[in-house]
Amino acid sequence: MKKLSLSTKILIALLIGIVVGLFMQGMPDAANNYIKPFGTLFLNLIKLIVVPLVLASLVVGTTGLGDIKKIGRIGGKTLAYYLLTTAFAVIIGLILANVLNVGGGYTIPVGATQEAQEAPKFIDTLLNIIPTNPIKALVDGNMLQIIVFALMLGGSIMAVGEKAESLKRGFESLAETMYKMTAAIMQFAPYGVFALIVPVVAVNGPSVLLPLLKVILIVYFGCILHMALVYSSTLKVLGKFSPIEFFKKVSPASLFAFTTASSSSTLPITMKCTDEMGVSKSISSFVLPLGATINMDGTALYQGVCAFFIAQISGVDLTIGQQITVVLTATLASIGTAGVPGAGFIMLTMVLQAVGLPLEGLALIAGIDRILDMARTSVNVTGDAACAVVVAASENELNREVKATETASM
Ligand code: ASP
Repeated sequence: MKKLSLSTKILIALLIGIVVGLFMQGMPDAANNYIKPFGTLFLNLIKLIVVPLVLASLVVGTTGLGDIKKIGRIGGKTLAYYLLTTAFAVIIGLILANVLNVGGGYTIPVGATQEAQEAPKFIDTLLNIIPTNPIKALVDGNMLQIIVFALMLGGSIMAVGEKAESLKRGFESLAETMYKMTAAIMQFAPYGVFALIVPVVAVNGPSVLLPLLKVILIVYFGCILHMALVYSSTLKVLGKFSPIEFFKKVSPASLFAFTTASSSSTLPITMKCTDEMGVSKSISSFVLPLGATINMDGTALYQGVCAFFIAQISGVDLTIGQQITVVLTATLASIGTAGVPGAGFIMLTMVLQAVGLPLEGLALIAGIDRILDMARTSVNVTGDAACAVVVAASENELNREVKATETASM
């Protein structure tokens, strides 16, 4: 077991967990009471790192970039990559839904109703970006607000120069310490993944999945297609980086996202993975927290497929114009989606409302949402890492030597 790399161990743990989960289908309570707590324990360990890690590494990242112009340029590239790939994801989802006729021949079972949950208004999300109290933002773990505060803090430290040197060094030591802590906690990842996946499979077994198998397959297929087409080609063309190397090294993060369904909780692992690819800390600490918060390609793709599915089963034929509206709203909705389990489902309401679709169909999706969430979160996280590599390559911040020397360690 010692010789196996961490990603192989995580993969094995995931597979064993799925098998054990299938065996435990008749006893979901046992899975929830005796196995899940170990998963929760591990998840808490990871979550404990997120806030100090993001704050420290983003401050260090900003000061490390050296000048404001560079920050603006990297910010521009990052946002462009995030927005374009997300729009692409919805388009892939819609094309597959159209071609494979998702929802065709399926009608809403009588009595399937779902309380419409209020999706946060986009304008509120925008206004909330600036924290009125940064300490509260840290305490609440409000990622977007922490990012803004950290950027402003880093920028100001740079502007002050000499007199803020000790503060800068303080953040550097904090960041290094958090990286160490992440590496130590990661050793437990295979056990955590096992304990997290067993209850999910035990509770959401084939009986829940089979009726809506087509939706599940289309979302999963779309996710794989998006990664294979969009990430591979941007990595190859824009980053001159081998997609195979990339998928191999990003796999601990992708698998962890798959089990936890949370981009935010996966962040420390994503950072460690891009590290192994040679992405400089100043790029990854800027691109990744932002991505974990606003870049959700998998979520957008899922929302496209689900909107089409719900239209079909409600007897509505979406026009091209309406489908374009879906692309736009799903892109925006995914930006407003928090990196926590189930958030994309709530934002799906916004997409349905934008094209006037009934919310009844949400009840069906609710039953399989966790399974869809796992795939979409995995794509969300993989997309963040792909962006980090592409931006790092374009800024000459990609250490290509690491590729050869550190493959053995993950
Ligand atoms: N669970 C997803 C994430 O954390 C968000 C979603 O529900 O779509 O990335």
